[in-house]
Amino acid sequence: MAEAPRDYYATLGVGRDATPEELKRAYRRLARELHPDVNPDEGAQNRFKEVTIAYEVLSDPEKRRIVDLGGDPLGQGAGTAGNPFAGFGGFGDVFEAFFGGAGATRGGARRSRVRPGADALLQMSLTLEEAAFGVRRELNVETAVVCDKCQGSGCAPGTSPRTCASCGGTGEMQSVQRSFLGQVVTTRACVACAGTGEQIPHPCPGCGTEGRVRARRTITVDVPSGIEDGMRIRLAGQGEVGPGGGPAGDLYVEVAEKRHETFLREGSDLHCTIQVPMTAAALGTDLVLTTLDGEEKLDIRAGTQHGTVFTLRGKGVPRLRSSQRGDLLVHVDVRVPTRLDDEQERLLRELAALRHEDVSAVTRASGLFGKVRDAFNR
Ligand SMILES: [Zn+2]
Ligand SMILES: [Zn+2]
Repeated sequence: MAEAPRDYYATLGVGRDATPEELKRAYRRLARELHPDVNPDEGAQNRFKEVTIAYEVLSDPEKRRIVDLGGDPLGQGAGTAGNPFAGFGGFGDVFEAFFGGAGATRGGARRSRVRPGADALLQMSLTLEEAAFGVRRELNVETAVVCDKCQGSGCAPGTSPRTCASCGGTGEMQSVQRSFLGQVVTTRACVACAGTGEQIPHPCPGCGTEGRVRARRTITVDVPSGIEDGMRIRLAGQGEVGPGGGPAGDLYVEVAEKRHETFLREGSDLHCTIQVPMTAAALGTDLVLTTLDGEEKLDIRAGTQHGTVFTLRGKGVPRLRSSQRGDLLVHVDVRVPTRLDDEQERLLRELAALRHEDVSAVTRASGLFGKVRDAFNR
């Protein structure tokens, strides 16, 4: 049985020459009036569906062309089965695209009492050795957990929530105002139920109506080797439980690395400075250095200069998630004696004379300029 094509223009209340802008305006106005969240009346709901279909058809140039040629792009059975949505993706899509997100379906504007919990952040201080090689740590954490008296429902045992009397369970309150634009319907979250559409007549003795309580617990954290100051370890689902016992957020443990008394860390490399007396630097010596891996012999060759850097390969910090390790860089600080007694001074002057080192000449000879001058004076 064929039926007469529906008049989409009349449904939206616009002329056949309506611009896309005018279509949009007409739909917006009607949707505000007829949307099921605003107008629970059944007649209004059917009208809302029709209006949405009309907008969907006319805002699509291809479908509108069919209408203008006297056809029905949704015809041939689409309108007969009592399912006006056959043939396209449901009015929720259109409404959502138009108004954006919430409100597309009935009850969509209602705020759930159960909401996801927040992430939590914790500081953990580690020594260089712990950060370098990893460590297992017990941490005391205080977060919201699900209330064990009500399992998150917020209701006293044996009771349950009831539909909010103020908003009838929609979670919203409408107020209608007249303005020069016509009737303006404003929607606000219901104050009585905080937008949830539910009220708890008998609150849980454990948590009030929150569904969660704060509690201390001990958790075990495995710190990976090579972690650095400021990095965060994420423990999924160990954060705050949400209102109404909602799913917990994540717990982040932020590493604060304590300063080491010998080593300065730079990524996976370590630096340290050793002080070598001038005489030892000149004559050469052996030195035992305590590294992260134990004692290491260091050979200071005769004639080692101030600022020399010895690199101990692989004696630094392991790289995160890698089997490689950084280096240990040992900086040499040659110390010149400062307080000489008469005998020491005499020996040094004797040494200078033997080496033909004129004490007054070297004071201005330094760097590139000094070397150039030396070449001319030779
Ligand atoms: Zn409770
Ligand atoms: Zn309410």
